[in-house]
Amino acid sequence: MMSVKIALAGIGKIARDQHVPALMASPDWELAATVSRHGSVDGVQAYDDFDAMLKARPDITVVSLCMPPVPRFDYAKAAILAGRHVMLEKPPGATLSECHALEELARAAGVSIYATWHSREAAMVAPAKAWLAGKTLKSLVVTWKEDVRKWHPGQTWIWQAGGLGVFDPGINALSIVTEILADPIHISSSELLIPENCETPIAASLTFTHPQGAQVGAEFDFRKEGDQFWNIAIETDQGSMVLSEGGASLSINGEVQSATLGDNALAGEYPRLYANMASLVRVRGIDMDLSPMAHVADAFLLGKRVIVEPFVE
Ligand code: NAP
Repeated sequence: MMSVKIALAGIGKIARDQHVPALMASPDWELAATVSRHGSVDGVQAYDDFDAMLKARPDITVVSLCMPPVPRFDYAKAAILAGRHVMLEKPPGATLSECHALEELARAAGVSIYATWHSREAAMVAPAKAWLAGKTLKSLVVTWKEDVRKWHPGQTWIWQAGGLGVFDPGINALSIVTEILADPIHISSSELLIPENCETPIAASLTFTHPQGAQVGAEFDFRKEGDQFWNIAIETDQGSMVLSEGGASLSINGEVQSATLGDNALAGEYPRLYANMASLVRVRGIDMDLSPMAHVADAFLLGKRVIVEPFVE
């Protein structure tokens, strides 16, 4: 099978940490160009202008967009209108409406568009979903607490409108919750702690309504030093489970479960995302599940704002 030429745009932290290694290791893909105002990848043709790349490289049929959410729409739109398939880092855009617009454009152009949710590809998310199936949920508690200074140093966009603040990692938790829960939930209350010098929250507390009355809530906090928590604890009528380390670890009734070799579980989140994209492109498919982002939008709609002390990097 021939590899497909792909361009990676927005060469920053996640492109370097995950996208480039995943592409380099995959027989499905050839990283044929980068587009970034400052960044580049050794040995790969580098452009600093997206339209110039689209014009110069008709052989590149797929683009993967890794810049922050606010500027991403213009790149995605230009790529679709130029007949390219598009893969979007999470969150897929800055607003729900622009994501719907991109999906419409992609359908009209007959190209693939993929709203990726990397945490859904963590090794133990599928086993957690399988264990939960058919059980009655009693409670679900998300605890997503990390040190923003450690994981997002210098990322000023996170603190600007559209950058999501603590919902940048928090949306990963919501992408897992919406994947593993069979029942639709919706936010019933939301409190957002916003530093007085920032436009986005540094912490958030969410309560959800569940159709069968289970207690569902989430605590997100960017101020956590020391131990870091990316956990989802679940009680059901038939036992309990804890999905931890962002979906990489699972314990059921207190017993740690191990990933199996089947189902590509050990491949890693980004190799699995690019395998999914390769499958989509083959059939010109569309995967634009916006449910994690809808919860974030609702949290902002219902959010009670509490101003807290200024954030100092
Ligand atoms: P980043 O390093 O701050 O930004 C990525 C690159 O985007 C920058 O190096 C910059 O490259 C380009 N960029 C920044 N602002 C831009 C603008 N206004 N217009 C065009 N390009 C711009 O961010 P990141 O951590 O890689 O995150 C990018 C996306 O990946 C976010 O949506 C984030 O949620 C997601 N993500 C991040 C992580 C993580 O661990 N960091 C994990 C999973 C997903 P140039 O200056 O060279 O153009």
